[in-house]
Amino acid sequence: MNECIFCKIISKEIPADIVFEDEHCLAFKDIHPTAPVHALIIPKHHIPTLNDLTSLDVNIIGHIVNTAITLSKKLGIAEDGYRLVANCNKDAGQVVYHVHFHLLGGRPFSWPPG
Ligand code: 5GP
Ligand code: ZN
Repeated sequence: MNECIFCKIISKEIPADIVFEDEHCLAFKDIHPTAPVHALIIPKHHIPTLNDLTSLDVNIIGHIVNTAITLSKKLGIAEDGYRLVANCNKDAGQVVYHVHFHLLGGRPFSWPPG
């Protein structure tokens, strides 16, 4: 049985505020937003971390980045700017082990990140 919370969002077992969906990926608002715009974009098949990606996943990663660019325009953050972030494993603070990209915008971000 798959206990992954993001797989349950994909299967609609648990609700989410979905902002985009197609055959390959899903985007929804983060439940604890850290910016005025904070969406998560995930592949529709379960991949635990970036380290688990293979050459077969090149297309889905490109598709997710393309989706982020489209969403940034739709959500009104393209012009001022945004951050697209993927955390891998504990040192980066990954807490959900289903690959996801945070699309963050609506305020300035510091660099380097903390
Ligand atoms: P990570 O630290 O793994 O990169 O980020 C996981 C993100 O998923 C966090 O920002 C957290 O707020 C979000 N999250 C965790 N559980 C849920 C959930 O059930 N629904 C939604 N929409 N976001 C979630
Ligand atoms: Zn999953």
